[in-house]
Amino acid sequence: MTDTPTQLFIGGAWVDAADGATMPVDDPATGDILCHVADAGPKDAKLAEDAAVQAQEEWARTAPRVRSEILRRAYEIIVGRTDELAHLMTAEMGKPLAEARGEVAYAAEFFRWFSEEAVRIDGGLATLPDGRNRMLLSRRPVGPCLLITPWNFPLAMGTRKIGPAVAAGCTMVLKPAPQTPLSSLALAAILKEAGLPDGVLNVVTTSRAGEVCEPLLRGGRIRKLSFTGSTAVGQLLLAQSAQAVVRTSMELGGNAPFVVFEDADLDKAVDGAMVAKMRNMGEACTAANRFFVHRSVAEEFGRRLAERMGALVVGPGTRDGVDVGPLIDRRGRAKVEELVADAVERGAQVLVGGRTPEGPGCFYPPTVLADVDPGSRLMDTEIFGPVAAILTFDDEDEVIRRANDTPWGLVGYVFTEGLDRALRVSERLEVGMVGLNTGLVSNPAAPFGGVKQSGLGREGGRVGIDEFLEYQYLAVPVR
Ligand code: NAP
Repeated sequence: MTDTPTQLFIGGAWVDAADGATMPVDDPATGDILCHVADAGPKDAKLAEDAAVQAQEEWARTAPRVRSEILRRAYEIIVGRTDELAHLMTAEMGKPLAEARGEVAYAAEFFRWFSEEAVRIDGGLATLPDGRNRMLLSRRPVGPCLLITPWNFPLAMGTRKIGPAVAAGCTMVLKPAPQTPLSSLALAAILKEAGLPDGVLNVVTTSRAGEVCEPLLRGGRIRKLSFTGSTAVGQLLLAQSAQAVVRTSMELGGNAPFVVFEDADLDKAVDGAMVAKMRNMGEACTAANRFFVHRSVAEEFGRRLAERMGALVVGPGTRDGVDVGPLIDRRGRAKVEELVADAVERGAQVLVGGRTPEGPGCFYPPTVLADVDPGSRLMDTEIFGPVAAILTFDDEDEVIRRANDTPWGLVGYVFTEGLDRALRVSERLEVGMVGLNTGLVSNPAAPFGGVKQSGLGREGGRVGIDEFLEYQYLAVPVR
């Protein structure tokens, strides 16, 4: 912690906010203040934007191999510092160390993946159908980008955007969530060490997100917004981006259905449920939010899930043997409490958990609710906590209709041993990703993203770099 930067990173230098403002970073396991970081205002954001704009032209001309090798070096440094970065993340975000180490590996992998993609940006040459014209196609970086990230995956949400932006030749202003600025600042220091030229990445930590970002989006010099966060904020930023016709990628909220058919292997289903629900304490956009279980296996599934959830150890993420850390803050926990209270009022049975513990920290126990009323608020709200809500269904058409009955469409999980059914149901689910007999879909080599109000565009995979590239077409007559 002592070496972790706490200033803004602008033009390759560490600087205080112009007005000297700072903001506290809290430890969600204790409520104590860990440290203070610079709290940027609009002046600092403008300086960061100036640095990104100034660096853009030369950076776009940099050899792809050079960009690739910077990412590769950064990948190696991150992997080499897994423990240090994991401790930092646990301190500011709360997740248990084992999960934080997992996130470090996941985050690093985006740099390795995009170091390999940086040298595979292709173009084309073709004779057009009339035979009199040629088409020369090239790919160019979209230009300076604004990257806005949430607190739940403090390192990986940054590398998932920075990796393809660096590979494509874009410069950036990164605004991390105020709860978890330290991981992003540590990442900036690593990229500098790996040889990233000054001004290519700039980081503004701030408690004044609106004041800092809106002028950048409306100003016309930022050409791309890549945002991960809630749908409500995404909608606001889309409106702000419209004025200067800023290109956008939006990774927004989810309301994942988790469907267990009568022919499912219940061992696999319960294992899958533990991952889909409990990864990151349920604070994930991919978290299973609505468990639809066939009536004939619902009781057995609920009993087994409650047994596994009840055996998890809750405590500070730094303590050995802890499976479930604190939620991000008191507001996040209060929301979970309200959703559970509402479901119980409407008749849900609490199979395990459901009671907030006394004492400091934002802890909430793993909870399983059965017989949840479809009218409960948690059916159309991201729970973002360790609460599994089980409903029953009777047939395939019915469950597909209910699973799709939401404005979101990020991910769905399907458990069945029948291949035909697995494919049929997956194809009918209105989601960008499906976990078939698995509770984990995230992988840097796969295109991550949703449909409907879960977002626009994809991150990761072969297509992840496309979000940061434009086509240029040259018309060349055949003479
Ligand atoms: P959030 O409240 O939408 O905030 C996300 C980021 O946007 C934060 O950095 C936040 O900073 C910033 N922000 C808020 N208002 C802004 C404004 N007016 N202008 C510019 N920036 C603004 O979301 P969160 O609570 O941090 O994260 C949880 C949400 O992220 C969930 O909905 C989850 O599903 C979603 N998520 C989606 C994915 C995905 O890939 N689809 C991945 C992870 C998380 P402030 O906090 O300072 O406002």
